[in-house]
Amino acid sequence: MSVGYQQLIEATIQHLEDLKAQGARFINLSPETLEGFASPLGQPSGGTADVSGRPQAVSPPTQSAPRSSPVAEASASSAPAPLNREAKETAMAGLRARAMVCQKCPQLAASRKNVVFGVGDIHSPLMFVGEAPGADEDERGEPFVGKAGQLLTKIVQTMGFTRDTVYIANILKCRPDTPGQAVGNRKPTAGEMKTCLPYLLAQLDIIQPKVIVALGATAVEGLLGETGGITRLRGHWREFRGVPVMPTYHPAYLLRNEALSEKRKVWEDMLQVLQLLGRPVGEKQRNYFLKA
Ligand code: SF4
Repeated sequence: MSVGYQQLIEATIQHLEDLKAQGARFINLSPETLEGFASPLGQPSGGTADVSGRPQAVSPPTQSAPRSSPVAEASASSAPAPLNREAKETAMAGLRARAMVCQKCPQLAASRKNVVFGVGDIHSPLMFVGEAPGADEDERGEPFVGKAGQLLTKIVQTMGFTRDTVYIANILKCRPDTPGQAVGNRKPTAGEMKTCLPYLLAQLDIIQPKVIVALGATAVEGLLGETGGITRLRGHWREFRGVPVMPTYHPAYLLRNEALSEKRKVWEDMLQVLQLLGRPVGEKQRNYFLKA
């Protein structure tokens, strides 16, 4: 048994004991969760287990993800039971330790410099989800640290948060390999996203954000199983396991297309997020990127 897997089991036991102390007498486990206990994530398996071992419950949708993709199927149903701060931190530390030694994708594990697990406040109401680490992120072991990441940081700050007060993660925790290529990144495959998705599901179960922002078409596809094009999908609320999801453009798109109108679209999406979170929005803030 790997150290990471052992830590996750210990965190899970601790969580179950906390639930018992709070009066819970039984929990519902999804088939994915049971499969997860049978197949330690540190070993190659290609499975889609829920790695958190967390209890599941159902919440009402805004517009649910279609179940047409393997990724969406792996994410079916359910919001987790609430966790106190200590239980969250214990569970996240165990999950992180497990991800850091993950070998489920042998070719990615061999080529990566770092596992890019996630960064920020695990108690935040707001979580940003991207597709996969690029070269900069692989080098630093932190998501969204390249030019696109710097733009995301500006967006986060303009919303009135900081990188430390939101949580940022990718669907894929390892950089997609680019054999024979010294530079450049590639889009993760559906199979890679499916294999790694249980880590993100577990992060969501632990963090329990009030809102998720899905950054770009690949993140939307990986999270929601929707491939209808980010231009059509952005700005319209979706739902993932009971959590409202706002699809928007990836910051890299805004670097490629500097038109004010595109920045305004992303900002309008973020205004919707702020509104759902009940955050105050000033007049100046509301009018960013509008033509004079
Ligand atoms: S991409 Fe995810 S599942 Fe694959 S090796 Fe990395 S951490 Fe493990």
